[in-house]
Amino acid sequence: MRDRVAIVTGASSGIGRVVAIHLAKLGARVVLISNESIRILEALEEVRAISPESEAFEADVTSFPCLEESVKLTLEKFGRIDILVNNAGITRDALLVRMSLADWERVLAVNLTSVFQLTRMILKPMMKARYGRIVNISSVVGVTGNPGQANYVASKAGLVGFSKSIALEIASRNITVNCVAPGFIATAMTDALNPKAKEAILSRIPMGAMGSPEDVAHAVAFLASERAGYITGETLHVNGGLYMG
Ligand code: NAP
Repeated sequence: MRDRVAIVTGASSGIGRVVAIHLAKLGARVVLISNESIRILEALEEVRAISPESEAFEADVTSFPCLEESVKLTLEKFGRIDILVNNAGITRDALLVRMSLADWERVLAVNLTSVFQLTRMILKPMMKARYGRIVNISSVVGVTGNPGQANYVASKAGLVGFSKSIALEIASRNITVNCVAPGFIATAMTDALNPKAKEAILSRIPMGAMGSPEDVAHAVAFLASERAGYITGETLHVNGGLYMG
């Protein structure tokens, strides 16, 4: 990935941070986007120790002007965007009867509409360069469903359909669009689960353990690499056997 320029959203923690570090190790210059200033700067420091030209922007992915500014500054600095990893995501769990419209809309805005916005912004430079790798972070529950997560599941299933459609639109331009669907990965997101829920999940995973952010980062890096050039519209499951697509 030497000299490739990769944008990773939600890169201040968890999976996104490890993906950013992994792409840097493979030689990419990484642009980290997240909406929390201290942690994104800490992550940038870690990434710059490997790939010194890397950059970070504090941006809420639901803000169109913030995203536009980040893309503009990325193009000004590097003149290209080769890889986009749409990773930023949140949960606002509740059974449907108790789910507020605000929680529905917020999850869809962060997890899905931001991907529509950012992908639209970076497609032009990618199409001009006739090269691109877009990797969207979906979830196993996007294909299995999950009670209490109708908003989250709708957003993650939406990413799969979105990715297939865009893959078809731009296949002839040497741009691929794929999803990685993690199962249960040890991050802040799953730390929030109560011990009983965690135990129940672990009992359903054939490999008997949660995955690590590194497990996901390896899959992302493969789909973001030149070697994955003939794979598009796919969803790569990283879930220890919990679900087999
Ligand atoms: P995490 O540790 O909570 O990280 C989420 C990241 O998204 C953070 O960097 C956060 O930044 C960023 N983010 C949230 N809202 C944002 C916004 N409005 N604008 C910009 N950045 C925002 O969660 P994770 O477990 O690493 O999850 C990463 C992705 O993997 C998510 O899409 C998640 O749905 C997916 N996933 C995770 C699992 C799992 O088991 N962990 C399983 C399947 C799928 P700030 O901290 O700065 O807000």
